[in-house]
Amino acid sequence: MTKSKETGWNIDNSYSRLPESFFSNINPTPVRSPKLVIFNNRLAKSLGLNVQALQSEEGVKVLAGNKIPEGALPLAQAYAGHQFGNFNMLGDGRAVLLGEQITPKGKRTDIQLKGSGRTPFSRGGDGRAALGPMLREYIVSEAMDALGVPTTRSLAVVTTGESIIRETELPGAILTRVAASHLRVGTFQYVAQWGTAGDLKILADYTIKRHFPEIEADESRYLSLLQVVIKRQAELIAKWQLVGFIHGVMNTDNMTISGETIDYGPCAFMDTYDPGTVFSSIDVEGRYAYGNQPYIAGWNLARFAESLLLLLDDNLQQAVKLAQHEISGFNELYQSKWLTGMRAKLGIFNEEIQDKTLINDLLSMMEKYRADYTNTFRSLTLNRPEEMTLFGTSEFSKWHELWQARLGRQQESKASSNQLMRNSNPAIIPRNHRVEAALEAAVEQGDYSVMEQLLGVLSNPYAYTAEQEAYAALPVSAIPYQTFCG
Ligand code: AMP
Ligand code: MG
Ligand code: MG
Repeated sequence: MTKSKETGWNIDNSYSRLPESFFSNINPTPVRSPKLVIFNNRLAKSLGLNVQALQSEEGVKVLAGNKIPEGALPLAQAYAGHQFGNFNMLGDGRAVLLGEQITPKGKRTDIQLKGSGRTPFSRGGDGRAALGPMLREYIVSEAMDALGVPTTRSLAVVTTGESIIRETELPGAILTRVAASHLRVGTFQYVAQWGTAGDLKILADYTIKRHFPEIEADESRYLSLLQVVIKRQAELIAKWQLVGFIHGVMNTDNMTISGETIDYGPCAFMDTYDPGTVFSSIDVEGRYAYGNQPYIAGWNLARFAESLLLLLDDNLQQAVKLAQHEISGFNELYQSKWLTGMRAKLGIFNEEIQDKTLINDLLSMMEKYRADYTNTFRSLTLNRPEEMTLFGTSEFSKWHELWQARLGRQQESKASSNQLMRNSNPAIIPRNHRVEAALEAAVEQGDYSVMEQLLGVLSNPYAYTAEQEAYAALPVSAIPYQTFCG
């Protein structure tokens, strides 16, 4: 490990010490004229990086892939994945892992350049990324972090000075993505499919050591690994559902082992509450619709369990039984996390059997009257029912009475109940029209002020400030929102 005093890079490369078949050594392809357009000061500091040095010409070269930071051994990771249900060999086709930054607190975090050029896994692709989608990932991932949802982070975006060809010519860009790791369900699928039993064990042991050291000494630690990943994902998906986040492309290569949200392609936040909501232009069958996400997570985890079978028991039938038992527990785990979160959104501290009905009745009303998901909870929190789409309906009046009575049946004061709601219901989310406006100003006019302002507001979603009011407003346009894979 080499620590640079000047820049603060303190990079180790534990992934490069894994079996050779797990990755391919490759440097980013240098770009013509790198220019830093957005930089995450706070994240940089928490990583132990020198903000000034990194923003200098030499520092930006690293964020563009034109210069390799001291001690880094760049590589592209191999992985497979089920894409819309079909199993494929994939791998980092347009990303390079520079290495793992060891933070001042001793945390190991992946530093990855996304859009950094072709790799042996690029297949027909150009290895590049467009500016718009990279800025979009930056905004939404940072918003997710502020919302308290585990996620990969965004350190910087640089423009390359080169155009890339999609439907039209677009400015190229590189995003520096920071992650607990880039181990995916698809990484395990790749090794289970094409590696040896020994490789699989090495991968599982590496994962445990890196993410779950608390299970290292367990008697059946690979079963523990399955359990802990299922638990993390149950928690994660519950958080997505609670804030109305739609990932859009929950392929198994886009599901991390660490439990962080990864791959902000066609993702978007739901406006009107509707479990069938799909934004992604390519998800024609609605496989990854809002209401399907918990089911799909369970499906993906079953693929993870399959890839671990060899390690679970020498007897395959016994291994399958063990795996099935764990997978069948996912839904209950998820439901309980979701229910706890929903109770909090309604200011409820204790548990009553009828809570689920109370919650589902509210959601049904929201669906029936096409109410905005975030703003419904926001109005309840602010006690401004008259702002709600549901206001004035007899169903809502009845529900409101039941809810108030329910709050009366707990010891906690109305004030602490309201505080719980404030902590659980974001006043603002990255509204699609706001994100689009920020991207348009940045990409079309080179004006990053709209994006900076949006990022500022989104960094404190539970604050309920006057400044946020304008950002809670819905778009005027009735055109259905659609997202595209970056
Ligand atoms: P995603 O849909 O973002 O999860 O990506 C699926 C696969 O396609 C991954 O293996 C990516 O590395 C690869 N990929 C996506 N875009 C490109 C590109 N422009 N060039 C090469 N590979 C790409
Ligand atoms: Mg992906
Ligand atoms: Mg992607």
